[in-house]
Amino acid sequence: MFEHLTAQKPDSILQLVQMFREDPRADKVDLGVGVYKDATGNTPVMRAIKAAEHQLWEAETTKSYVGLAGDPAFSDAMISLVLGDAVARDKISAAATPGGTGAVRQAFELIKMTNPDARVFVSDPTWPNHLSILKFLEMESVSYRYFDDTTRGVDFDGMIADLKTAKAGDVVLLHGCCHNPTGANLTPQQWDEVIAVLLETGATPMIDIAYQGFGDGLDADAAATRAVAAAVPECLIAASCSKNFGIYRERTGILMMVANGTDKAVSQGTLAFLNRQNYSFPPDHGARLVTMILNDDALRADWMAELEDVRLSMLGLREQLAQALQQRAGSDRFGFLAQHRGMFSRIGATPEQVVKMREEHGIYMVGDSRMNIAGLNAKSVPILADAIIASGV
Ligand code: PMP
Repeated sequence: MFEHLTAQKPDSILQLVQMFREDPRADKVDLGVGVYKDATGNTPVMRAIKAAEHQLWEAETTKSYVGLAGDPAFSDAMISLVLGDAVARDKISAAATPGGTGAVRQAFELIKMTNPDARVFVSDPTWPNHLSILKFLEMESVSYRYFDDTTRGVDFDGMIADLKTAKAGDVVLLHGCCHNPTGANLTPQQWDEVIAVLLETGATPMIDIAYQGFGDGLDADAAATRAVAAAVPECLIAASCSKNFGIYRERTGILMMVANGTDKAVSQGTLAFLNRQNYSFPPDHGARLVTMILNDDALRADWMAELEDVRLSMLGLREQLAQALQQRAGSDRFGFLAQHRGMFSRIGATPEQVVKMREEHGIYMVGDSRMNIAGLNAKSVPILADAIIASGV
């Protein structure tokens, strides 16, 4: 049977990692894969995670199974972190998942299970895995306009016009903050308009929030998610702990369902059922560390302080790069870099310019010109700025 298998297209970002590794140039710059890196290029284990791991190692007496939806204490802590008190707790069901990707996958499966004809509206562009999973599940996706190639901001009129074509039974996938891959985000007023369109059309929002704390702060980054969840009768939220807790490989995420018209036992039971079908029990280690940190004043304060340092370091790099480009270009046309938020910015280079930057300057960014801002440091900012100008971006 396996003779019928055909080669899968390799992941372009992982290919880039390989090319970077094989490049002998000493001043090469890796702006590819989406992990946070400090000024030395390391992806550190956060202090609070280390401390919680130490405590857990001392105190844990069993590795027996937890529950199909994970530990309810993890759900409670994450619901508070993401939703605050925007929605009454008895309206929210939740299940731990293997990373944010697991939450996205479970959300799509849930949508397909409840409405096989649902169309999922996705931003153009979006995180490629959204499209890839939808295709794999044979679900229909519809692109809505999002990134404006000229301003490198959001094409908001286009977005609204496209979202108005959604219907009840469709799903609108939104990035809660720090849009991946563009870095361009909606203002609070624009979010209000999106909410109005959701209410008008009756489409169900699904929010993917993978970078809470990387943009404007923990609460500010969750504000849009909270506003949507408070306003609509039902929604899905897929949250990842990979970035803001720095626990990428622990696979820690959560799917939340707000379902005002549904019996909580049914919605909660459905999430547990879906976990059962795909992997039974979700991973616990990362979820337990997150729960310990969020429920302990000292650990939480230390985690928040370190996350704030991470956020500010990325903002600082954005400012430095925008300034270096302003000096070289003699104009503000790269000012959008300081307006973008999160780990990524789409600089708006052509595929040829991206190749030129890689071959001639050792700058590695994704083919659509997405740069990981955290891959920069004080030394590489001028190198990148020179390469951008020299490549005619
Ligand atoms: N959604 C988006 C938009 C992302 O960028 C990511 C991380 N690349 C995820 C979800 C999920 O990440 P993970 O599975 O590593 O938690």
